[in-house]
Amino acid sequence: MKELAPGIHSLGHGKGGHVHAFLIEDGNELSLVDTLFEGDARLVLDAINRLGRNVSDLKRIALTHGHRSHLGGLAALKRASGAKVFAHEWEADIVGGDRRAQPVTLLPKQSLRLWPFQLGLFLGRPKHEPCPVDELLDEGDAFGPFVVLHAAGHSPGHLAFHWPERRFLIAGDAVATWPDLRAGWTAFNLNRKQHHESLQRLAALDAEIVGVGHGEPITDGAADKVYAVAA
Ligand SMILES: [Zn+2]
Ligand SMILES: [Zn+2]
Repeated sequence: MKELAPGIHSLGHGKGGHVHAFLIEDGNELSLVDTLFEGDARLVLDAINRLGRNVSDLKRIALTHGHRSHLGGLAALKRASGAKVFAHEWEADIVGGDRRAQPVTLLPKQSLRLWPFQLGLFLGRPKHEPCPVDELLDEGDAFGPFVVLHAAGHSPGHLAFHWPERRFLIAGDAVATWPDLRAGWTAFNLNRKQHHESLQRLAALDAEIVGVGHGEPITDGAADKVYAVAA
């Protein structure tokens, strides 16, 4: 767990393509964006403990989108906390296990390090433990202290989360910093035109800190870096 700014914590490890989740303290309530990889609920629960909080303080969990690397801990966290689960309508039945994620292309083949994820998303295997979504989110909605952006392109219901007062943005898989800084993992972006438009909107937010789905958060020169990948 790394504190990026007061009350803003990033959680991650090497698995799931260096996937990251974000735990937010806002007053007495905790909000979580994404839930890491298989079996990773434990990591989130440990983080809540280390903050001196109770698991019941976790009030809401949002998914940036329905890809498996981001859903691993969801069902267990829901059971442990009773938190409300939020996602975009287009992703909700994937999260709930009623539909598989739209397969990504096999070609062009991504780098060797990304290939296992590309193959997994092409085959829709293995599956995550399904968890029903309680409430839908869309452009302009509030999620804890965040304003929700419908930043489609990587997937049709992909969301980003902006906390304007703190100049903090969670860009999800629209931006990646692993294996290096890029506009997401190219072959995984289902609609390139939408993805490009979303990136330009995210860049215009001028965020100081940007959390991304895969790789370390961007904590210096974030706005410039998002502008660069959006160009
Ligand atoms: Zn994804
Ligand atoms: Zn991802």
